[in-house]
Amino acid sequence: MQADDLAFDKRHVWHPYTSMTQPLPTYPIVSASGCELILRDGRRLVDGMSSWWAAIHGYNHPTINQAMHKQINEMSHVMFGGITHPPAVELCRRLVALMPSDLECIFLADSGSVAVEVAMKMALQYWQASGRPRCKFLALRQGYHGDTLGAMSVCDPIKSMHSMYSSYLPVNRFVDTLRRRFGETWQIGDDTELSTLFSSCHHTLAAVIMEPIVQGAGGMHFYHPEYLRVARALCDQYGILLIADEIATGFGRTGTWLACNHANIIPDILCLGKALTGGALTLSATLTRRYIAEIISDSAAGCFMHGPTFMGNPLACAAAIASLSLLEDKAWYHRVTAISAQLRRGLSPLVGHPNVLDVRVLGAIGVVEVTKVVNISLLQHWFVEHGVWIRPFRNLIYLIPPYIISSEELTQLIEAISDSLDHPEHFDSSIPI
Ligand SMILES: *Cc1c(COP(=O)(O)O)cnc(C)c1O
Repeated sequence: MQADDLAFDKRHVWHPYTSMTQPLPTYPIVSASGCELILRDGRRLVDGMSSWWAAIHGYNHPTINQAMHKQINEMSHVMFGGITHPPAVELCRRLVALMPSDLECIFLADSGSVAVEVAMKMALQYWQASGRPRCKFLALRQGYHGDTLGAMSVCDPIKSMHSMYSSYLPVNRFVDTLRRRFGETWQIGDDTELSTLFSSCHHTLAAVIMEPIVQGAGGMHFYHPEYLRVARALCDQYGILLIADEIATGFGRTGTWLACNHANIIPDILCLGKALTGGALTLSATLTRRYIAEIISDSAAGCFMHGPTFMGNPLACAAAIASLSLLEDKAWYHRVTAISAQLRRGLSPLVGHPNVLDVRVLGAIGVVEVTKVVNISLLQHWFVEHGVWIRPFRNLIYLIPPYIISSEELTQLIEAISDSLDHPEHFDSSIPI
């Protein structure tokens, strides 16, 4: 990187969720390896974010790199219309084997948000094809499903920044906060709201869409698996499709292969993304049951109406195959379990801290919810100065490290969070949480 790169970046390059006129600082990363990001000046940061849930095997993994090199020499890309290729077939063969057996028809797309659009469009076309068009979705408050317009319409309608597009978005139905948290005891009546909503609006619903167990970008909440079981049962009772958005939770992050496994349910449509390629490239998959694919295909439309230019990108598929092969031996399970135990040990003493509202851990996810909105700019700077990469949002400081993290590296992340809490300048009392 050149000396003026940062100035150019600040003037010309959009970054996620920050201003073009008063941007949050960006840090120049020139390479990454294992569980470390390397800054331009040579400093190494221990990565606590897996580049937003994706880099589960860490960076520059030789197996994934090798697979991509090999594929580049064959072809990086070829259109998927009228063409198929070994990486796509092999990836789908593996997904069919590794995912719930009923979910055997796979649509490959290029990002998580598009996987959600695809899932929603499948539900809409399914109802259209059945001759009973329906266009409402039931979603959870505090949910997050992506940034495209359809996905936004099922994100939290008030708290997400997507409320600013509300005049354009279709109006969907929402279940209020799921009060019963993961690990608490389920109480009779906890599902009343869900059941009541179903009985009042089921005849309008095309599908229910949920992030199973873990609500990620909407607030890092972990809810009771019984909600999923109830939703599955109600969908069965009323003949409504259940879409599970496992884009953040899939591939072991929550301690089970899929978060749906906590509730022992199978959705009708499953969205995968983020860690699908081990974080090497962007790719997503939407899996569905054969009867849904058949109803859509046998309709007047004759097909499912979606076909991205980079559908089934061979290079991304090759990376995904390599990532799945790294998960084959189940070592991920032992790593995630160990990370979970260490997060619990390390973070739970923070519960009594005056700046801490809540601490929660599930699988390789550790969340410290603080009493005030964090000053991201100052706190991020402090973390970088202390050799760690942790990216908080709102009042949430959280860790979703690569599964390969060593216990020393994880200790460094935990201690950084713990020490950061004692600095009042990291928190902003003027913004309500
Ligand atoms: C990140 C995320 C998405 C969107 O994925 P992109 O690849 O960013 O488009 C959708 N749903 C959930 C649950 C996510 O965490």
